[in-house]
Amino acid sequence: MDRSPSRFAYTRSLRLSVGIAALLFICFGIYVQAEKQIDRANEARYRSRLLADELRQSSDDLTRMVRSYVQTGHPLYKQYFSDILAIRDGRKPRPIAYDGIYWDLFGPDGRPPRPDSDQATSLLDLMRQAGFTAAEFERLEQAKENSDALTEIEHVAMNLVEAPGPDLPQRRLQASRILHDVIYMQAKADIMRPIGEFYALLEQRTAKDVEDAVNRAYWLRVLVVTLGLALLLALWDSLRKLRATLGAAPDEVYAQIVQLGQGKFQDPIAVQAGMQDSVLGWLQQTQRQLHQMEVERRVSDARLVQLADYDPLTGLPNRRLLQDRAQTALGRAHRHGEALALMFLDLDRFKNINDSLGHQLGDALLVQVAQRLKSLLREEDTICRLGGDEFVLLCPGTDAASAAHVARKVLALAAQQYQIGTQELAVTCSIGIAMYPSDGDSLETLSMSADTAMYRAKQAGRNGFRFFKAEMQTHSTRTLQLENALRRALALGQMHLEYQPQFSLHNGEVTGAEALLRWHHPELGVLSPTEFIPVAEDSGQILEIGEWVLRTACRQLRAWQDTGLPIRRMAVNLSALQFRHPKLPRQVEQVLAQTGLPAQCLELELTERVAMENPESAIAMMDHLSERGVQMSIDDFGTGYSSLNYLKRFRIYKLKIDKSFVRDIAEDPDDRAIVTAIISMARSLGFLTIAEGVETPGQLQFLREHGCDEVQGYLYGRPLPPQEFEQHVRQHLARHPVVSQAGVPG
Ligand code: C2E
Ligand code: CA
Ligand code: CA
Repeated sequence: MDRSPSRFAYTRSLRLSVGIAALLFICFGIYVQAEKQIDRANEARYRSRLLADELRQSSDDLTRMVRSYVQTGHPLYKQYFSDILAIRDGRKPRPIAYDGIYWDLFGPDGRPPRPDSDQATSLLDLMRQAGFTAAEFERLEQAKENSDALTEIEHVAMNLVEAPGPDLPQRRLQASRILHDVIYMQAKADIMRPIGEFYALLEQRTAKDVEDAVNRAYWLRVLVVTLGLALLLALWDSLRKLRATLGAAPDEVYAQIVQLGQGKFQDPIAVQAGMQDSVLGWLQQTQRQLHQMEVERRVSDARLVQLADYDPLTGLPNRRLLQDRAQTALGRAHRHGEALALMFLDLDRFKNINDSLGHQLGDALLVQVAQRLKSLLREEDTICRLGGDEFVLLCPGTDAASAAHVARKVLALAAQQYQIGTQELAVTCSIGIAMYPSDGDSLETLSMSADTAMYRAKQAGRNGFRFFKAEMQTHSTRTLQLENALRRALALGQMHLEYQPQFSLHNGEVTGAEALLRWHHPELGVLSPTEFIPVAEDSGQILEIGEWVLRTACRQLRAWQDTGLPIRRMAVNLSALQFRHPKLPRQVEQVLAQTGLPAQCLELELTERVAMENPESAIAMMDHLSERGVQMSIDDFGTGYSSLNYLKRFRIYKLKIDKSFVRDIAEDPDDRAIVTAIISMARSLGFLTIAEGVETPGQLQFLREHGCDEVQGYLYGRPLPPQEFEQHVRQHLARHPVVSQAGVPG
């Protein structure tokens, strides 16, 4: 790990402080010693003086004692004289505080002074022990010798006055003279001179010692003060460097660490400029990283929630979240007695889009559908994607009327054109609605009901909605049954075709026939294509069935033509799935080749709704088919809101006017207007028109008057099995052998 320079600086500074403190401590010790040394030198000087003083004092005392004795003859002075000598020579202990005249040491009652120790030490020995220099000691020894020499004279003087006698005064005078004469004085001076010299020597030496000690102490004091200041400086410096290392005051750093320790990562840590490489700077980095990690953790938590509760493709809630929301909503609806609607929404023929245009486009379409649905719903509603193209809408507080309103809005919005990349797409959806509590009181039961209702909406032609009704239940089981039975219907020969003739209104000729599929189920009886074709489409079985229809119808027409039946054209219905299948043109080609039917004898019927679902690809497919000579017509025209623009580009030759307009043509002026408009529009575009579901002469009359080209319906002939159809046509030909302009069959 990289050690930061500021951290180094702090350690260095701290070490320096410790070093200076140690030095200061040692110097202070030495200084104290130096101060003591001064005292010791002074003490030694004082003691040495005392010894010299004692020598001088004792010498003076001896003189004082001997003179007093000589004058008074009092024996006490003689006694003192010998005491003083004895003390000085170490024969008698030294009295305490021995620095005055010897007789002053005695008490008023003549009590002798207390000794200062048990032992008696001669003055010379004391001097020897005092550590004087040889020169000093030599002076003192000299003075002692001279003093001893003086005691000889003093003894002589004392002996003079010893004996009593009349000449005692004379002798006293003589003795006194001895003690005052020049010789005595000279001897006295001989003692004092070396003592004086000693003093001088001593003074010289001890003064130097003291001065040296004082000097040393002075410099040591200066050193201690200097070191003290240096220590203060070093401490201040390390404090400064500590602050630089920490990046702030220790209290502040501590407070920030406490914050991090308590898991509070969100508050940013402020660091002064240039303080990035400090404890606080790195703490700031740590805080940022921890904060970042926390944010990332929250995001990934949210992502987990998202994954657990939301559909990854559309971002809508998934089944799991729906369950939660439904539980809450149902609980609320139950408590407050409120209504609730659950809707199942399924895109119509989404499988086709996926199959023909690819899953990527299918996914993009689902995303757009989801966005539209979201934009439509209230906040309290939940829209969920169950998977595939199935959506569920949970609308709390919504009664049947409001649910129908919502469904209508959803249908309208979903049916608007989608732009995916360069592709324009139209798709519709079917909605099944279940109401709480009548259609179920749990998500499960409501879902089943809504699903059933949705299925019903699909069967009713898609792009619509249905409310659940109890009787639907049986129906949806029937759907399942149909799906299963359909699988083997062809193989078991349960399918056959019926043919319905088409007549020209210009000459009454049979112009062609429409092939209509029939399924005879052994248990369910004859089933209507309107019921089983949506089932076959949803299960994909329509492709196989459709191909069978195409082949059977073509083969039939070829057979009729071979027997001379004058039918020019066979119309075959195409389902959306078939029409979008890229292999259709090739399949048609093969069937024509296999059956030997000329291409222009085949007419393919495409419902208007399928053609308009994706007009561009419808145009492309029509082009492919008509290139092969096949005729195309638009079935159920008028129900699918064709755009004229596209219609112009469709390679068709005929429009089939839907039977719903024809039915009420006699009574309903609107229907009349529509049919009239369709006919004139078709004419202007160069298309023929055929009206289907013509049942009455009134209808026929109207159509003829308004220039419709052909008709098909019960009035002319019901859909019939091949033999009956053939018979029917032959009967018609027999009745109308000649081509007539009126062409009305009898
Ligand atoms: P569509 O193509 O509109 O067929 C005409 C329907 O009208 C037929 O019903 C026919 O029986 C009925 N119809 C004919 N004349 C009259 C009349 O005068 N009055 C009334 N009320 N109805 C009349 P069907 O046979 O039940 O077929 C229903 C639908 O099933 C057809 O409607 C067509 O869309 C579909 N379909 C039938 N066969 C096939 C097939 O082979 N393939 C495909 N994809 N769809 C088929
Ligand atoms: Ca048809
Ligand atoms: Ca039709």
